Amino acid sequence: MVMRSWPAPTVVALPDHGGPLSVHDTVTGSRRTITPGATARMYVCGITPYDAAHLGHAFTYLTFDLVNRVWRDAGHTVDYVQNITDIDDPLLERAAATGQDWQELAAREIQVFREDMAALRILPPRAFLGVVESMDLIADFVARLRAQGVTYEVDGDIYFSAADAPGFGSLSQLDRTAMLELFAERGGDPGRAGKKDQLDWLLWRAERPGEPAWDTPLGRGRPGWHVECSAISVHELGMGFDLNGGGDDLIFPHHEMGAAEACCATGSRPQARHYLHVAMVGLDGEKMSKSRGNLVFVSQLRKAGTDPMAIRLALLAHHYRTAWEWTDADLRTAEQRLERWRAAAAVENAPDARPLLARVRSALADDLDTATALAAVDEWADAALSGSGDDPDAPALMRTTVDTLLGVALDR
Ligand code: ZN
Repeated sequence: MVMRSWPAPTVVALPDHGGPLSVHDTVTGSRRTITPGATARMYVCGITPYDAAHLGHAFTYLTFDLVNRVWRDAGHTVDYVQNITDIDDPLLERAAATGQDWQELAAREIQVFREDMAALRILPPRAFLGVVESMDLIADFVARLRAQGVTYEVDGDIYFSAADAPGFGSLSQLDRTAMLELFAERGGDPGRAGKKDQLDWLLWRAERPGEPAWDTPLGRGRPGWHVECSAISVHELGMGFDLNGGGDDLIFPHHEMGAAEACCATGSRPQARHYLHVAMVGLDGEKMSKSRGNLVFVSQLRKAGTDPMAIRLALLAHHYRTAWEWTDADLRTAEQRLERWRAAAAVENAPDARPLLARVRSALADDLDTATALAAVDEWADAALSGSGDDPDAPALMRTTVDTLLGVALDR
């Protein structure tokens, strides 16, 4: 299956340009200004399509959408790449548990994901690549690692030797005990017999009876999880790209191991100049996750008639670095805010919106401070609705500011 991205929403250019983006960097644990060239290069890990987007996913992709919008507003072209894990154990497990064909399950959920992203007005990636369609380049990448001498085999499966990765652990800054715990929790196999080190991870899984496999120079099999992202990102963006990101449950092992692979395969470093991770969204006191079954899906909300712009505003009310819990009150507040903004955008004369544009720009550039940006729009809307202001151009500039920078369309 060849992946298609989803349709792009229109982005109208605003007067002048915004400033450079400063955000938290996982590796240094500090705020840093990202300094891309003319083209900013970003890779964000995609979903495993046994489910489409729950609100935790939506919050993550929204965060990187804001990065994309801030960069474009600052005058950069953005080269954005995202993968889809369209073959992996969790997908096969879900297909088997529910009696579905794994390919049909994946195709259906990917389509729902595209519709969710388009409805939320997330700017699509330039390359949206599945593992299946990228099999040759992933197998080639594993062969490169093997040629570097950093791999070994266990019963025909190919493993990466963590001890051979210079600086392994420097991305997540975790000690070995914490690494082992997370590795076991998040798809790793620390206890497998025959491995040299418990932390060594699977690059290539030789064919098993009854499992899908592909013919490659490595033999028949399929890739492990981390290597798909390092192979695709190196292929599409090269090394030293500007930003690598995802949910904060990807810091270890996924991004640590992926960075080790990319650096060893290419002999250069870093894989990315900046790593950005988004906090989890919870429900009823627990992290929203498949294993806990406490998921709220974007598609369910859409089906129930919720305005996707209200969903987007509900997510925007939270900061990307703070874990939070979804409640129905979030949505009600967002719906009221959306109504007020729409009413304010429809007045004939309003207060000058140029100071509003400046405030929204500086709030987003300042570690994606969405709460401050929303408060600035609220203030302008209150003033416009109270009848103050005499600028006939202001409502149009307010609409473009909210649309271009926050991705919220105010037309009905
Ligand atoms: Zn990834």
